[in-house]
Amino acid sequence: MPEQHIVAIANQKGGVGKTTTAVNLGAALAQAGYPTILVDLDPQGNASTGLGIGTEDRDFTVYDLLTGDADLMTVAVDTAVPNLRVVPSTSDLASADVQLSQVADRTRLLERQLSDAPHGTIVLIDCPPALGLLTVNAMVAASSVLVPLQAEFYALEGLSQLLGTVKQVRQGANPKLRINGILLTMSDYRNNLSQQVEADARETLGDLVYPTVIPRNVRVSEAPSHAQPVLIYDPSSKGSHAYRQFATEFTARLKLIPEIA
Ligand code: ADP
Ligand code: MG
Repeated sequence: MPEQHIVAIANQKGGVGKTTTAVNLGAALAQAGYPTILVDLDPQGNASTGLGIGTEDRDFTVYDLLTGDADLMTVAVDTAVPNLRVVPSTSDLASADVQLSQVADRTRLLERQLSDAPHGTIVLIDCPPALGLLTVNAMVAASSVLVPLQAEFYALEGLSQLLGTVKQVRQGANPKLRINGILLTMSDYRNNLSQQVEADARETLGDLVYPTVIPRNVRVSEAPSHAQPVLIYDPSSKGSHAYRQFATEFTARLKLIPEIA
C-alpha cells in the first residue's frame, strides 16, 4: 500500500463541484480520523476561503511550494476542522503557467514537495478549471484522479479531453496514475434530466461512477459564505449526509483501513 494517497480533483469545466468536493470530502475524511491536507491549486482560492483561511492569513501559499521557497509542512495551515490542513492559494498563482513555463522539470514541482506528506496522510488537490501546467502538476504528483461531473446536460462533454490528459501523463511523467472515480454532483432528483445524465454516465463509464450521488442542496451552496464546510455548517443536511457517505466509498476505493476517530 502506498504511504500517501494523493488524489487530484480535476475537471477543466468550471462550476462542476471540484472545490465543494475537495472541501467537504476533506472535512469528512478528517472527521473520520484520516489526517488530510487539501492543496488549493486554483488561483481563485475558493477552497482556502471556504475553509476559513482569509487572504491576510496566507503568509505562505501553494505558489511558494511550487517555486521551492517553502516546504509542505510550512505552507499547510490548520483549519477549524481537526485533522484537516490546507495549503492556501492566492491570485499570484494565476501567472504560474507563464512564470514556471521555463523551469526545468516544470511538471514535477508539486510531486517533489508532496513527497514530504507524513505517512498515512491523504492529500486532496483542488485543481483549477483548465488542463494547463497546474493541473498537469497535480496529475504528475497524484496516485489517482477524482472527476466531479455535474448532473446536467453536456456533463460528459469534455470528459474525453480530460481522460486524454490523464493518458498522456500516464504515458509520460506518471505511469502509476489511475482514475479514482467519477462523482456525480448537484443532482436534482425532481429533474428527469439529472436522472438521464446519471443513467448515461453509469452506462458509459460503468463502475468508475461512485454509487453515491451528491444532491443539489441549498445548505451546500450557503456554507462557503460562512467559511465552513457544509459538514460543519449544517451536519444534518442532505449535502453533509451525501459527502459523508461518499467519503466511506472513497476510502474503501483507496483500500484504507478505517481509523479510530
Ligand atoms: P468548481 O470548483 O468545479 O468550479 P464549485 O465547487 O465551486 O465548482 O461549485 C460551483 C458552485 O456550485 C458553487 O457556488 C457551489 O457552492 C455550488 N455547489 C456545488 N455543489 C453544490 C451542491 N451539491 N448543491 C448546491 N450547490 C452546489
Ligand atoms: Mg473550484
